[in-house]
Amino acid sequence: MTSIPTITLNNGVAMPQIGFGVFQVPNDETEQAVTAALAAGYRSIDTAAVYGNEEGVGRAIAASGLAREELFITSKVWIADLGREATLAAYADSLAKLGLDYLDLYLIHWPAPATDAYLESWQALEELAAAGRVRAIGVSNFLPEHLERLIALGGTVPAVNQVETHPALQQRDIATFNAANGIATEAWSPLAQGAVLTDPAVLAIAAAHGRTPAQAILRWHLQQGRVIIPKSVTPSRMAENLDVLDFELSADELAALDALERDGRTGPNPADFNG
Ligand code: NDP
Repeated sequence: MTSIPTITLNNGVAMPQIGFGVFQVPNDETEQAVTAALAAGYRSIDTAAVYGNEEGVGRAIAASGLAREELFITSKVWIADLGREATLAAYADSLAKLGLDYLDLYLIHWPAPATDAYLESWQALEELAAAGRVRAIGVSNFLPEHLERLIALGGTVPAVNQVETHPALQQRDIATFNAANGIATEAWSPLAQGAVLTDPAVLAIAAAHGRTPAQAILRWHLQQGRVIIPKSVTPSRMAENLDVLDFELSADELAALDALERDGRTGPNPADFNG
């Protein structure tokens, strides 16, 4: 079985560099998908309260027979649950649905700046971490302006910022800010939900290595140190997306993929997305 590399978060916790995302997988299909992903070798699963499939993830974990400490489970607090009390309650609800007694990583899903409640939620996450109820805390879709306010609280610096990242939307300003502050960058929609798989530059690089377009793109992410969480309900693709550890893109190939930046956002813009 593939040995998945880890990155060390700013609090010393090791996080697998490749995980399995379950956005848009219906709850009643999630157990089967996660079971197949665990069989393929994934040990890190990325879900969220708003995905409505934490129960399906939990059923797969329970059925897997894997020791809890072999797994790295992430969930996220949704915008409607920003604020201290609501975030603490949302965490308890996610744990219950997952059938777990701790998470490896808990993220604020979106800053939702108009609600101005993410700082309160952050302090709730710090309380959970201090009580030993979660191993690492972080954020998702945070722009540097949101991170600056959070860091100015003087408490815990987020371990992770999970943001949309793929060749068509690289968000280098965010990645640079993250790196400068010891925050790991985790790429969501690392394949742009498929939108970058037919690009001629991607096809050429894939062909040069005898690999698939998805593998070329995932390799580009890994070589830049990002955590990736590709989603697939197709077992052959689950395996394909993990089989990216035994080839190397050249500097020119990395640059050719860098050149695909086209402000190709697939999701909402965090600057003005409030749920
Ligand atoms: P991805 O970029 O992972 O792309 C998933 C799509 O690509 C699916 O349609 C899948 O098809 C297809 N696909 C997967 N692997 C291959 C392959 N090897 N060859 C061809 N097609 C492939 O999109 P997601 O939006 O799902 O992002 C990944 C994860 O990121 C999510 O599942 C979620 O966990 C997280 N996320 C977080 C967000 C946030 O706000 N924090 C927002 C969005 C996502 P199929 O399944 O049919 O095989």
